[in-house]
Amino acid sequence: MKILFAAAEIFPFAKSGGLADIAYALPKALREEEEDIIVVTPLYRFIDKELYGIRPTGEHFVLGFGGQKYDVEIFTGGTEASKAVFVYNPVLCDRDHLYGPPGEGYEDNDLRFAIFSYAIVELARRHSFKLLHINDWHTALVPMLAHDAGVRVKTVFTIHNLAYQGIFESRCIKRCGIAKRHFNMEELEFFGRVNWMKGGIAHADIVTTVSPSYAVEIQKPEFGCGLDGFLRKHNDRLKGILNGIDTTLFDPATDSSIPVNYDLENIEPKQRCKRDFLKEAGFDMDKYEWPLFIFIGRFTEQKGIELITESASRLAEYPLMLAILGEGEREYRETLERVGEKYPNIKVWFGYDEELSHRMYAAADFLLMPSRFEPCGLNQMIAMRYGTIPVVHAVGGLRDTVHPVFSAAPACGLGFTFEKMDGDSFIEAVDEALSLYGKSSQMHRVREFDMKCDFSIKRCASRYLKLYRSLI
Ligand code: ADP
Repeated sequence: MKILFAAAEIFPFAKSGGLADIAYALPKALREEEEDIIVVTPLYRFIDKELYGIRPTGEHFVLGFGGQKYDVEIFTGGTEASKAVFVYNPVLCDRDHLYGPPGEGYEDNDLRFAIFSYAIVELARRHSFKLLHINDWHTALVPMLAHDAGVRVKTVFTIHNLAYQGIFESRCIKRCGIAKRHFNMEELEFFGRVNWMKGGIAHADIVTTVSPSYAVEIQKPEFGCGLDGFLRKHNDRLKGILNGIDTTLFDPATDSSIPVNYDLENIEPKQRCKRDFLKEAGFDMDKYEWPLFIFIGRFTEQKGIELITESASRLAEYPLMLAILGEGEREYRETLERVGEKYPNIKVWFGYDEELSHRMYAAADFLLMPSRFEPCGLNQMIAMRYGTIPVVHAVGGLRDTVHPVFSAAPACGLGFTFEKMDGDSFIEAVDEALSLYGKSSQMHRVREFDMKCDFSIKRCASRYLKLYRSLI
């Protein structure tokens, strides 16, 4: 099977969130199953070509659409674990950020990702790929463009986050060279504007979401972001496949970003990781015995940041420490800055820092993830791998991966969940976590249980493999 896997971000070259992790881990796991799979991504200006040995392949073509011509040059390179084909065009790639400065989008993102999408179709045509696996709105037009270009391929479209649909003003039709006939309610039209995600749902052979619960939730108005009716209409092609993590990349036994390694047989060094991190973060070392909670993620409405900020004064009165790492919308940044200044037991870091995030997963006792909605979520799986117990809003992929500690039939993994998205329910879950922390042997058992859970991408890969085979 010859598969082209396309994503706008792939770890370690460019990453803003979980999409990059999956675009790294899934093809790698599929390759281990000996599948012939090539990943393709834009060669953004900020990708270190030297570091990753990225070189031109000599392949070069011109894309013509919307009355313009766009030169495309193909590169290849990467790491042993993550080899990729890179598409270079200056409009697409010569930017300081992936999609725009924090919390904003570039005005011409439609044109940028149209160039990427046409390039994917052209690569499929030239190299006779049998199947295209495309991800999120950035590549959602590919099935339709491939069909229009007469390129016969099967397509799998994965929705990693329905909240980002790629919605543009109608002028995008002309600028992106989209045939006018597609601008209708059954394909791209969305309240007078153009919706790329809708195009992907209408034209792909199979649409997947990143967890089974999310596949069900997005068919309801509460989580459907305006597309619930459209998704219900197409639900015979909609399937939820739970994401997983690369257990080599996230492994406390070998992780070189953490001060000391540990594993199930020897969890004790996790305490050293905690001590070192508390020192690094400037927490009061007398409070070492207190549990350490962490939050890592984008500062957006999705992640339920306001539950943390609105509960900050209550959290500050508890015998706990809270470390927050993330970047995102200005409003949240400003509020969090004030919270960090006001309460000595809450520390906040702004920015994206992969190594710091690993030190935090290793150091922490609990992970907070009060997401309003969560397509899958990787943080909770990473946390459990590091023996850090999640406290989550029971929604989407969090519902599929975190089960109440004191449930009658424990399933992988265990943590604290709350059903209602409000401060009291959130604080109740934190209270429960604190009470577990007070019972050290039980706490230890839950830690061990979570570390044993299999959230590896391998399980996810075998499901995708089955899906690919059913199509070809
Ligand atoms: P998202 O909705 O952002 O895709 P996921 O839970 O699916 O959320 O994936 C988030 C990934 O990004 C995890 O690997 C997490 O550790 C990482 N991450 C998020 N924010 C940061 C940050 N500020 N610094 C380092 N890593 C981060």
